[in-house]
Amino acid sequence: MTQTQGERLIAKWQQRCGLGEWTIRLLLIDAKTLTNGNWGEIHSNDELLEAVMLLPSRRLLREAEQTICHELVHLVNHEQCSLLESVCSGLNARHKTSILGLWATAEERLCNRLARALSNTTQISDPKQFCDEESPLPRGEE
Ligand SMILES: [Zn+2]
Repeated sequence: MTQTQGERLIAKWQQRCGLGEWTIRLLLIDAKTLTNGNWGEIHSNDELLEAVMLLPSRRLLREAEQTICHELVHLVNHEQCSLLESVCSGLNARHKTSILGLWATAEERLCNRLARALSNTTQISDPKQFCDEESPLPRGEE
């Protein structure tokens, strides 16, 4: 997948997912730099409504599109994640970690299901291909 192909796919699915207010940059990277063999990651800054999507450059377009959909569903779900973290702020650390862990697992399943539905793909060759969680923008990024 080229940078231009990736940016076009992100723009297409960003609009369809109602994420037009976000500025999403694409960084094509070596797959080895993604954590845990993931096929993509997204790092976001809620206040600025900016995100950086990391995708491996050596990926079939169909596979990349499904990964893009997966990562964008994380952004769609972002408001609920922030709300849950606020609700959990009064809990002790063990309960908070437990609830957020369950939430992250459920969110991954949701992202996988919706990514398959949106990209019209019924099979994921590796269900663990996606990131486990959404994380803030790395330092040095906008
Ligand atoms: Zn994910």
